[in-house]
Amino acid sequence: MDLSSPKDVLEGLSFEVRKCSLCALSQTRKNAVAGEGPKSAEIMFIGEAPGRREDSLGKPFIGCAGRILDAALSKAGIERSEVFITNVVKCRPPYNRRPKIKERLACMPYLERQILVVSPKIICILGSTAYRSLLGGKSIIADRGKIVEKDGKRFFLTVHPASAIYNKSLLSDLENDMLNLAGEIRQRGHMNKKTRRHDKALALEGKSTQNQSHHRESIESE
Ligand code: URA
Ligand code: SF4
Repeated sequence: MDLSSPKDVLEGLSFEVRKCSLCALSQTRKNAVAGEGPKSAEIMFIGEAPGRREDSLGKPFIGCAGRILDAALSKAGIERSEVFITNVVKCRPPYNRRPKIKERLACMPYLERQILVVSPKIICILGSTAYRSLLGGKSIIADRGKIVEKDGKRFFLTVHPASAIYNKSLLSDLENDMLNLAGEIRQRGHMNKKTRRHDKALALEGKSTQNQSHHRESIESE
């Protein structure tokens, strides 16, 4: 294995994560979940921690929250196979409790290295744990939809897909945010064929991501 190429750096990191015992979560996990996606991904999604299904199969966002995320991505014309998806901590906390500060700090160097290697155009923060861990943010509900720059990196803030499972209004927030995130990537000239087709379809329907964001702002100011 040539560990100098970025893909192999990610594979090497994933291997390290799978045998990591830097925090207590290593004692209760079945499988550590490093994350997945191409090294060339323009968007990196960061959730909280693996859940039960992720822990069983070693892949991120494949349970209920994952299905919500997939649907929101697909509505926005973003292909899951093109983005990088990972979490703040790579091992499942027992009973899906929130990861403790100690665990977040122990695991953070893996995420920092993933960000460095993939070097995404934008990092999408999913929910309050990622918001707090990466940006010291407080209320993701209040700040969702915003773009924040820190240390030369761009972050897009949105709610966690799990919070949208039983909450229709958060689900539409998430869907709107994904449309705006796709628009943001397009505006900067990064597009694949599918997002271009999707863009054209929205234009034909008379919608644009610009409209979406104005619509959202007017709802928020009500
Ligand atoms: N919730 C997360 O935050 N991450 C996952 O991978 C799955 C559910
Ligand atoms: Fe290691 Fe992170 Fe898993 Fe803790 S959560 S054991 S630091 S990989």
